[in-house]
Amino acid sequence: MTAHAPVPPLWNCAGCGVGWPCPTRRRELRAEFEDAPVSLALYMSSHFVRAAEDLVGVPAGQLHQRFVGWVRGDEQVHQHTERHLAGERPRFRRRRI
Ligand SMILES: [Zn+2]
Repeated sequence: MTAHAPVPPLWNCAGCGVGWPCPTRRRELRAEFEDAPVSLALYMSSHFVRAAEDLVGVPAGQLHQRFVGWVRGDEQVHQHTERHLAGERPRFRRRRI
């Protein structure tokens, strides 16, 4: 259990008070979902949707970047999905960081 949990409706971090996910939580999440970038993207997307309901004054693009845009491999996942939808065989290469 992390101290760096989101606190709705402002979605600041309970641990350090900055906008969630804070740098510490992002590091934790990257580690927790190291082998599951798609799951991390889905997890953060669900938070993005909930936060968007609370933070109505914040532009959606800015919120999306804050909650989902930092997720490692997001672009790869997107390309993978597009290829899949286009009927191509998936060629999912692991990237070493
Ligand atoms: Zn924090």
